[in-house]
Amino acid sequence: MNRSTLRRDAAGLGMTSQRARDRLVERLRVLGIEHRGVLEAMRQLPRHWFVDEGLESRAYEDSALPIGLGQTISQPYIVARMTELLLASQPKKVLEIGTGSGYQAALLALLVEQVFSVERIDSLLRNARRRLRALKIENVRTRHRDGRLGWAEEAPFDAIIVTAAGAVIEPSLLAQLAPDGVLLAPVGSASEQRLIRVQRTLSGFQEQVFEAVVFVPLLGGTL
Ligand code: SAH
Repeated sequence: MNRSTLRRDAAGLGMTSQRARDRLVERLRVLGIEHRGVLEAMRQLPRHWFVDEGLESRAYEDSALPIGLGQTISQPYIVARMTELLLASQPKKVLEIGTGSGYQAALLALLVEQVFSVERIDSLLRNARRRLRALKIENVRTRHRDGRLGWAEEAPFDAIIVTAAGAVIEPSLLAQLAPDGVLLAPVGSASEQRLIRVQRTLSGFQEQVFEAVVFVPLLGGTL
C-alpha cells in the first residue's frame, strides 16, 4: 500500500482498516459464510478504497454504500454469499455484469484465474480500473458496454455473476455459459428480487432459488 492509502486509513476509520476487516469477516462468519477463501480474500481487500471519499469510515459496516451516479457497492454479506455460491462449481473463468466500484471483480480476482467484467457507465468503470491498477490486480479485464449482451468474444465462461437486477435472466448470457457453467443473478422487480442460480446441464438449464436481495436495476444502453 502506498502513502496516500495509509493517510486515508488513518483519516476515516478510527481503527486500523485491518482490524475493521477482521471484525467484518467475523460477522460474515456468524451470518453463515463458510468458504475460507472468500473470508480470507475479504480480510485482505481494502473495501474502503472502493467507496466514495468521505464514506471510508463506513466501509466495513455490512451495508451497501453509494458509489455515485445512483449506483451502489453491494452489501458485504451479499458479495460474500454470491461469491461463495459462484465458487461452488470451481470456475476458472468468470464474467461479471456490473463492474460498479470494482470490488466484486477484485474479490473474484483473488479467487479465480481470469475475471472479465463489463459496466455500462464509463466514469464508474474508469474509477474501478484505477483501483484495480493500484491494487496491482492483473487478471481482470473490463469493457464499457451493455452487459445484457455479455462478452461474446471471450465466451464461454465457467461462471457469470450479474450484480444488477433484471426482470428475467438474459438468454444471451445463458448462451455464453460453458457446459456445466453456472450463472448467478438477482431476478425480479425493482423492490423485490430473489437470487437465482442457473446451471447449464447436458439437457438444458437447471434453476435454484436462494434468498431475497435488493440490487440496483440492470439497465439498457451505455452512459
Ligand atoms: N459489482 C459492483 C456493484 C454493482 S452495482 C461492485 O462490486 O461495486 C450495479 C452496477 O451494474 C452499476 O454500476 C450499474 O451501472 C451496472 N449496470 C446496470 N445495468 C448494466 C448493464 N446492462 N450492463 C453493464 N452494467 C450495468
